[in-house]
Amino acid sequence: MIKLKNIIFVISSIFIFSINYAQDKTDNVNIIVIDAGHGGKDPGAIGKKSKEKDLTLKLALKLGKYIEENIPDVKIIYTRKTDKFIELHKRSEIANKNNADLFISIHVNASRSKTATGTSTFVMGLNRSAKQMEVVKRENSVILIEDNYKMKYDGFDPNSPETEIIFSLYQNSYLDQSIRIAGEIQNQFQDKAKRINRDVRQAGLVVLWNCSMPSILIETGFITNLDEEKFLMSENGQAIIASAIYRAIKNYKDLVEGKKNNIQNNITFKIQIAYSSKEIETIPENFNGIENVERVKDGNFYRYFTGNAKTYEEIAELQTKIRKNVSQAYVIALNNGKYITVKDALQLLNN
Ligand SMILES: [Zn+2]
Repeated sequence: MIKLKNIIFVISSIFIFSINYAQDKTDNVNIIVIDAGHGGKDPGAIGKKSKEKDLTLKLALKLGKYIEENIPDVKIIYTRKTDKFIELHKRSEIANKNNADLFISIHVNASRSKTATGTSTFVMGLNRSAKQMEVVKRENSVILIEDNYKMKYDGFDPNSPETEIIFSLYQNSYLDQSIRIAGEIQNQFQDKAKRINRDVRQAGLVVLWNCSMPSILIETGFITNLDEEKFLMSENGQAIIASAIYRAIKNYKDLVEGKKNNIQNNITFKIQIAYSSKEIETIPENFNGIENVERVKDGNFYRYFTGNAKTYEEIAELQTKIRKNVSQAYVIALNNGKYITVKDALQLLNN
């Protein structure tokens, strides 16, 4: 267990660290930082034939190229363009110093299970399910090979669950936009790139915690899954992943800058299973066995959702199943991340 004195110390230093997000990043997307995960002495996850650091660099450079070719008014800044080691805190520093409007960190997932598959996109936040902890530990553990990491990260220990909780108390004022771009990316991965959708998730990731702009970390597939490793190593696979992220950024930029009508194809249905002032761990045991619960902060409350459907038919079917466990579960609709009535959503879809 962690001592109370230490908790107060860490919390206060987190607030000191977080003061520099006053500037508003809501209106334009002109500068994008692309962060190829790992590099140099940090290989990241290791597959049968490849290393994460090499795949992330290829994807990052491809993504940057697509953006530069197709959205010339956007300036791209890479945290690395070669096989170089960069400390985690330096990555967000690069974004902050350059006044970036978006921070995209690219990674490849790993699992002990060789069948684990699919893509997920993380935003900063608290989620302590065991599966999430695997990603959090792995992606944060690189600080252990940095010099003086305890000084730089306020004594943060990536192997301690207690520090992870405290660390996640950090309030990201760009959470809504981060969730929006993350959702766009997962939609593109699912609909266009035909990847398995492991959804938008929240986790206490060091690389995101000090970013003063919307920021996400993308796990583009599993290096430990033979098929996915092959896909991510191939020129074609990299092009599919990078172009999916590119299209998501394009959509996000258009939406943020008001160039696109929000109505187009951005309706999502979910099942709300709980609404509470309590921040409940999103594990099945806490929700009558319901899996894949996501928690979204709404004012002083938390909404707890499951499901992610593009059509009402699909969500209605899921609702019937969920109601066997949670009788009050009901369908909610979102348009580009904003809550709208189901009636309005259906009307928009029929237009
Ligand atoms: Zn990684």
